[in-house]
Amino acid sequence: MATYNPKSLKAEEFINDGEILATLEYAEQNKHNAALIDRILAKARPQKTEKGCVCQGLTHREASVLLACDIPEKVEEIYRIAEEIKLAFYGNRIVMFAPLYLSNYCVNGCLYCPYHMSNKHITRKKLTQEEVRQEVIALQDMGHKRLAIEAGEDPVQNPIEYILECIRTIYGINHKNGAIRRVNVNIAATTVDNYRRLKEAGIGTYILFQETYHKKSYLELHPTGPKHDYDYHTEAMDRAMEGGIDDVGLGVLFGLEMYKYEFAGLIMHAEHLEAVHGVGPHTISIPRVKHADDIDPDVFDNSIPDDMFAKIIACIRLAVPYTGMIISTRESQEVREQALRLGISQVSGASRTSVGGYTEKERPHDSEQFDVSDQRSLDEVVHWLMQNGHIPSFCTACYREGRTGDRFMSLCKTGQILNCCHPNALMTLTEYLVDYASEETRKTGFALIEQELSKIPNEKVRATAARNIADIKHSNRRDFRF
Ligand code: SAM
Repeated sequence: MATYNPKSLKAEEFINDGEILATLEYAEQNKHNAALIDRILAKARPQKTEKGCVCQGLTHREASVLLACDIPEKVEEIYRIAEEIKLAFYGNRIVMFAPLYLSNYCVNGCLYCPYHMSNKHITRKKLTQEEVRQEVIALQDMGHKRLAIEAGEDPVQNPIEYILECIRTIYGINHKNGAIRRVNVNIAATTVDNYRRLKEAGIGTYILFQETYHKKSYLELHPTGPKHDYDYHTEAMDRAMEGGIDDVGLGVLFGLEMYKYEFAGLIMHAEHLEAVHGVGPHTISIPRVKHADDIDPDVFDNSIPDDMFAKIIACIRLAVPYTGMIISTRESQEVREQALRLGISQVSGASRTSVGGYTEKERPHDSEQFDVSDQRSLDEVVHWLMQNGHIPSFCTACYREGRTGDRFMSLCKTGQILNCCHPNALMTLTEYLVDYASEETRKTGFALIEQELSKIPNEKVRATAARNIADIKHSNRRDFRF
């Protein structure tokens, strides 16, 4: 039997079933241990130091105790600390992005995904480079600057060369004042060499959802195709990092397995990346299984209610305070509203999960990956965020300025975010307001920017940001960044 070792490169040792089961037992035994819970909460709280705020984070065992705890006032405290951490490290900025589906050809047999190979009635599509261009122009015309490209796994239809060609096409399109400045990539686990090629193509984050950390369930849920190989899939982030990609995005598809198991596995995966590569995941996504063509989510009997979903988000926030958290349009406006307060730092807006969906007038359903709950336009999402006190940010500066991996984390840890990310958010929001927003959104936005400029601590940075904002308003100059 494999033993737990966070530094190992073997899936079964760093995501160790025995350790997860022991963690769940420990959490169950201690879920009413008020003294221990108070100690864990004290450890999670941001501490003020001379250099700003610091957070220690939590181990998978500590975080699992909090997740299991059902003492109402302690749960309230978890939520309070999650909000505190969110504000301390991410402030009120919310980074905006959209997914772009390139191809739904797939050779895998994932039981929860409509792209599975034996689904014969879904329309199969793969964008040509001209179609990629049209989709990107439609996304630029909404105001998007950051994309996550998505594709099924098919070595013949979607080889790495196709993905690289699409990335080149996307970065090459400058329509009016538009530009896609960061392309994140969500494609199947691949080789070190292919990760190196993705890095050379200038990708932002490499995103790969584990789907489930429970090996037995994983094998059953992925009965056929290359994705069946649990170890190859679980060890993908190590290969990505070996290939030079130091921003990686983890995720679990909640609803497939028991959430407590997934939660412990997810935090262990983050601990493993930190232990081996010296830097944890750049982001964590928290998708829940949704209805889709040929997919009934009720078949999976581990669905989680909204209140538990919120608690999971808060506990992740406490465990890995410096990791960005992403929520997609799988979730409704109401669920997203609460999640934003508890730790989410990135949201998608106006997403279409079908191949070629952005160029269609009406939302097409024939090649969709899942039903979208939040169907509002980007303008509506931006306006809603601002009305709720958030700053929608279209910033893509970090990786373009070489602030990836531990360099981004150190920006977070030294409290320099207010002198860097904050002005970048305000400048890119100004671009959005000037070039794409409705009159009402523009009015709300300009008032917010005025107010938020005063929060930039460094006088010189504040003056430069104000000058750049005026420039964006009165000229076609764009893409200022710190
Ligand atoms: N083919 C790549 C892979 O194997 O990882 C890319 C994945 S797919 C385009 C993006 C993600 O959508 C999957 O990793 C999965 O978690 C999620 N997904 C699939 N079916 C879903 C469903 N019915 N509801 C919600 N999310 C789903």
